[in-house]
Amino acid sequence: MAVLVLDFDGTMTDAEQEGAAFVAGYLDDLCTLVGRPLGDPQVQQIAATTAQAITDRPGDFPFLWMGRAVAPATVDPYLRMVPIAHAIFDHFGVFRDATDRGRLLGAILYKYNYAKTSPHFRAGAGELLAALATQKHPVWIVTNSDTEAVAKKVELLSHQFPAVAALASRVRGFARKFDIDDNWQGVPAELTLPGLARPVLLRRHTYFDILANLLEAEGATFADLVVVGDIFELDLAMPLTAGARVGLVHSTHTPGYERAFVEQHPRAKLLSGLHEVLPYAFG
Ligand SMILES: [Mg+2]
Repeated sequence: MAVLVLDFDGTMTDAEQEGAAFVAGYLDDLCTLVGRPLGDPQVQQIAATTAQAITDRPGDFPFLWMGRAVAPATVDPYLRMVPIAHAIFDHFGVFRDATDRGRLLGAILYKYNYAKTSPHFRAGAGELLAALATQKHPVWIVTNSDTEAVAKKVELLSHQFPAVAALASRVRGFARKFDIDDNWQGVPAELTLPGLARPVLLRRHTYFDILANLLEAEGATFADLVVVGDIFELDLAMPLTAGARVGLVHSTHTPGYERAFVEQHPRAKLLSGLHEVLPYAFG
């Protein structure tokens, strides 16, 4: 029997809408840190130029974790803010020490401004989760985010779509999809995508173990698994290599090379909206 695993942030939610307050607050803080007034045109200009470069050349702006490229930075506003902040600090010549900068951007500014975000669901999220909660196939939500935070978002949707409440206990958080374990041999080390100069790293051991445990509990294998997410490199590349079918819910920020790879792969599908998820998974 098919088992469906959904990513949550950016897949069930609209990351651009959710992140708007994060981006505005973060840019205000950067103005203060470089000694410019709030809304400074020069800071705004650097932010806009860098954001455009990320959109134009997504392969050149990876999200780095432990010094390794593990996802494109273009796909959500939280990841895009890191190269923007570096460009602003570089321009004004401040916080030159990499450790100080990493601590400031990754811990302080990220957490402080993330707290300003509020849930915005993608069109059809409530309808999809309600339909999934009331059919026979097992469904799980596997996310890098905090389990409780995502369960709360699911509960929020259940106010309008009561059936969705049943899925609040089907969230597996802290999946660490960005963690690469070179010593684990469970899948090949990398995948090459035409149009992307760097390899896609596949040995996402923690994420694999979470999926393998869910499948074992359902008496299923990777051949029964369907994974739906919004970032091919982060959510889908490893499960696809392990034998799953995958669906990429794309947006205007999805890199062209991810879109093209998914379109030509026999076990992958580009999904233009959440209404396509259920027919693809169980149809
Ligand atoms: Mg996501």
